[in-house]
Amino acid sequence: MHTPSPIFAYQEKPTLLDFPGKWAALLFVSGCNFRCGYCHNFDHLARRKTGITWGHLEKTCDRFKKDWVDGVVVSGGEPTLEPDLPRLIKYLRDRGFAVKLDTNGSRPDVLKQVLPDVTYIAMDIKCSLARYPEFVAFADTAAIACSVELLKPLGRACEFRTTVVEGFHTPEEMRAIAPWLRGAARYVLQPFLPRHNLPDDALRGKPRTSMDTLQALLAEVRRTVPELPVEIRRGG
Ligand code: SF4
Repeated sequence: MHTPSPIFAYQEKPTLLDFPGKWAALLFVSGCNFRCGYCHNFDHLARRKTGITWGHLEKTCDRFKKDWVDGVVVSGGEPTLEPDLPRLIKYLRDRGFAVKLDTNGSRPDVLKQVLPDVTYIAMDIKCSLARYPEFVAFADTAAIACSVELLKPLGRACEFRTTVVEGFHTPEEMRAIAPWLRGAARYVLQPFLPRHNLPDDALRGKPRTSMDTLQALLAEVRRTVPELPVEIRRGG
């Protein structure tokens, strides 16, 4: 009870926005193996930090239960880097929560292990596969490709999502991503949101991605792979 859990932080108020159909608590695991220039959590989550104790987590879960929370989102950072992730997910399931997992897709071996206990999974598609090393400083593109193929058969229990950065996510980029995701049941485009402390200072002053850009890229995805269900999420 006094040992650290994998959870570094949590959002006090549950949300209806992050887990389809659930009143959900948001839990955060620290540490990430990507370096996204637009990361909102980079200061807090990119490096591993000591988690809250299991006892603290238990009290927090009890409180969420009293607030009618029926789902938990395990986010990060990158949760699959956490060795205790399978234990954490089982722990949450045993307390009656449905579990959603957010992932960057870098650890397909871990995804395979935890999928039976996960209700919904959201995997980031940062860019076309070939540009991962340049865009997020992650070179193992075979791992990313493997995760995509692993998750496609989940159908509506999985979403792939891209945070669209104007100027980088061009129609050409969408023409590379869309065929890769053929067979997926949900692809979401969401806007880049500016913030003063983004890791890439060139992005700090950049405006939020416009709805016109999102709609143009959505149309490009539909033109390229008409059967791929794609939607826009407006973001916070
Ligand atoms: S994968 Fe997520 S947590 Fe990691 S750097 Fe990128 S945006 Fe941040």
